[in-house]
Amino acid sequence: MQVFTLYQGSSTAPLSRMQKACNFVRIQQAATLLGQGDLVAFPTETVYGLGANAFSDEAVARIFAAKGRPSDNPLIVHIGEKEDLRRVAISWPATVDALINRFWPGPLTLVLPRRPDISPLVSAGLTTVAVRMPDHPVALDLLRACGLPLAAPSANRSGRISPTRPEHVLEDFENLQGMLLAAGPCRVGVESTVLDLSGPQAAILRPGAVTREMLSPYLANLREEIPAEGEQLSLHSPGTRYNHYAPKAPLYLYLGPREDVLQRMIRDADMWQRTHRKVAVLLSEPVFDSSIAEMVLDMADLKPAGTALELSDEERLRRIAANLFAALRNSDAEKAGIILVQGVPSEGLGEAIMNRLRRAAREVFDLST
Ligand code: AMP
Ligand code: MG
Repeated sequence: MQVFTLYQGSSTAPLSRMQKACNFVRIQQAATLLGQGDLVAFPTETVYGLGANAFSDEAVARIFAAKGRPSDNPLIVHIGEKEDLRRVAISWPATVDALINRFWPGPLTLVLPRRPDISPLVSAGLTTVAVRMPDHPVALDLLRACGLPLAAPSANRSGRISPTRPEHVLEDFENLQGMLLAAGPCRVGVESTVLDLSGPQAAILRPGAVTREMLSPYLANLREEIPAEGEQLSLHSPGTRYNHYAPKAPLYLYLGPREDVLQRMIRDADMWQRTHRKVAVLLSEPVFDSSIAEMVLDMADLKPAGTALELSDEERLRRIAANLFAALRNSDAEKAGIILVQGVPSEGLGEAIMNRLRRAAREVFDLST
């Protein structure tokens, strides 16, 4: 992959005119490639996406081939303006106007009836299409520069963990023909909420940073769709059948009262170490007797540990979501033989975090029962 690293501004250090001009030139080059049917990996606020012209069967087929993605797992189409929704979907219920006014640009994907000129490959043969407007300046500039809706699944090989840093994209796609626009870590870190509005009753097909609690005022009757563990998975969202997000090492997830969970994790880490396996211990809070395991990682990335006291639960969950996939990839990179993870309460953003962890887990130990 050809890597173009973009300048990143912040509220305290905005980009200079020179830096903006450099970014503009690079984004124009990426847009030209997309217009020719090539692949471009780009950052969004959720994860890095691997984008292609959503109108072109050939370009979309390249995504499936590059990822090794089963052709029955549909892709999300990204748009650069709210008005572009009409280029992707044929019709939508009245609630959509309120939803996109409130949540777009942002991590909310809507499943709606598909326009026929969007490649049917995008939808894996379904009559519906998933669409969202991402909240990232590079993604928006790219979408506007190429003037095309872009089909863009997460930029990882199928079955691997979604990339939240440019180096994750390269881990999976070093040798791919295409371009990577590199612009640092993704702010949200878990994939978008997928909301199905194509039927008579709305349903969350995948939890994300736009939470059930945030959506419920806009939706009178929300169907329960996220399958519980071991339950028959829905036909409505084919992708949910696949076990995404799995690191290479087996992952064990611990739930329940804090003290019980920590005690059990220490005991198990000790046991695994005695079998000479390197253990990665990922905690959702900054307390642990680190003499026990050589690789203890606080997923909320709290340094120094003392700052934990000043962090609201909401802020802690945001940090865990932003660091989660990097922590799992790091555990693999550090050659951990076993990954032990402390769960979080499944509320608000915690629902999205736990959804990803449950799918990644070899086994879940629920100590609350
Ligand atoms: P990814 O692109 O890897 O973030 O995955 C896209 C997710 O959106 C998958 O879980 C798909 O099942 C879901 N999705 C995409 N298109 C549709 C659709 N038309 N109907 C239902 N779910 C969809
Ligand atoms: Mg994916």
